[in-house]
Amino acid sequence: MAIKQKHIAILGAGESGVGAAILAQKEGWNVFVSDYGTIAPEFKKALNSITVEWEEGAHSMERILKSDLVIKSPGIPDDVASIQAIKAAGISIVSEIEFAGYYNTAKTICITGSNGKTTTAMLTHHILKKAGVNVGLAGNIGDSFAKQVAREEFDWYVLELSSFQLDDMHEFKADIAILLNITPDHLDRYNYEMQNYANAKMRIVQNQTEKDWFIYNYDDPIIRNQVEKRNIHAQKAPFSLQEIMDPGGYADSKQITININQKFTMSIHDLALKGKHNTQNSLASGIASRVLEIRKEAVRESLSDFVNVEHRLEFVAKVHGIEFINDSKATNVNSTWFALESMDKPTVWIVGGVDKGNDYSELEALVKDKVKAIICLGKDNKKIFESFQKDIETIVEASSALEAVAYGYRLASKNETVLLSPACASFDLFENYEERGNEFKKAVRAL
Ligand code: ADP
Repeated sequence: MAIKQKHIAILGAGESGVGAAILAQKEGWNVFVSDYGTIAPEFKKALNSITVEWEEGAHSMERILKSDLVIKSPGIPDDVASIQAIKAAGISIVSEIEFAGYYNTAKTICITGSNGKTTTAMLTHHILKKAGVNVGLAGNIGDSFAKQVAREEFDWYVLELSSFQLDDMHEFKADIAILLNITPDHLDRYNYEMQNYANAKMRIVQNQTEKDWFIYNYDDPIIRNQVEKRNIHAQKAPFSLQEIMDPGGYADSKQITININQKFTMSIHDLALKGKHNTQNSLASGIASRVLEIRKEAVRESLSDFVNVEHRLEFVAKVHGIEFINDSKATNVNSTWFALESMDKPTVWIVGGVDKGNDYSELEALVKDKVKAIICLGKDNKKIFESFQKDIETIVEASSALEAVAYGYRLASKNETVLLSPACASFDLFENYEERGNEFKKAVRAL
């Protein structure tokens, strides 16, 4: 896209909006930042320090509608009046990632999926960084991509991309795209149509050419169906836990094998990340690293010494033989499915919060097999009772993490596990999933 000195409006002054403002100003745009809510003090300071004009508590539509380009925060849904008005005026709306892509000269590994994005992005970054690649990490993690494009000089970026970010990406191209899984999430933003959500995720391959790579989960039926239906130009490197993939990667109960630029194998027991879902994440990161021809020894070492991200199946403590695990980031049914699947001891399961249209029937067989008691940690627990009371005798309700942990301690015996894996968002009782996980850990440590 040809860019002249023109007016840009940035809607939403969070990490991505402020990053976009920094980059736009550096590139000579006339920048106006508008946030319908209140702007956090740190972001006001950042905007003031680069003398960019901003407003909060409203969108001055008259001014915004005079812009040549609008950058929209991924948090703003498409159907709000302001976005509709901008579209009606024929003004292009792009995401901060798309905008940063106009100026980025580094290569990109872009990671999306319903679950596992952060883990896989951090793991991939870890492998590359340790191998000496000049690599940055951005997207949903840490400093925004736009800010780093303005201020850093990396050769590669690992980008974590949500479907909301992908929605407003048009010209952007990933050199290596990773698609982990497509399972129901955020359907409220996609007209409750799975196909719309799948279309957003599949944007990860748009504009790719034969020189690029597409790494995807072969075991995911929705992805497989999309791959069959579409004309994908990139070289394909699927991964599977069920079938041999060549090129690609696969795992059996003993080892992982990656067939990209020669054969790479590694014992499954040496992987730092445990559980089937994490084997998938390790395969995806491992394939990307081998596409970059990172030395096998370096890949092996990094896959075995990676320290998992907080709140994802995080071991907290063992108290009188009872193991406590914090999986507060499990905010949908699929991520909880993998958590329960990886439990190898009788489990007291802490679940609940704000559910985004959960279908708990997918968990029934696992719950029957692994769960001895349920602790509901949410305001409205009706659906949980309805789904599980026929199989689980003990279901109790807690209204704080402290109370849930106390119940867990009482209901679990030696050599059993208390697992917080809520399958729901947290904002009925907590600020966010981090607060939920931190309060859980604090309560465990106080036992
Ligand atoms: P995201 O960034 O996509 O939300 P995270 O890496 O933060 O993903 O993990 C979110 C939740 O999903 C955690 O509970 C984690 O244990 C679980 N999870 C991680 N990887 C996968 C995967 N490949 N498939 C399903 N669940 C996963």
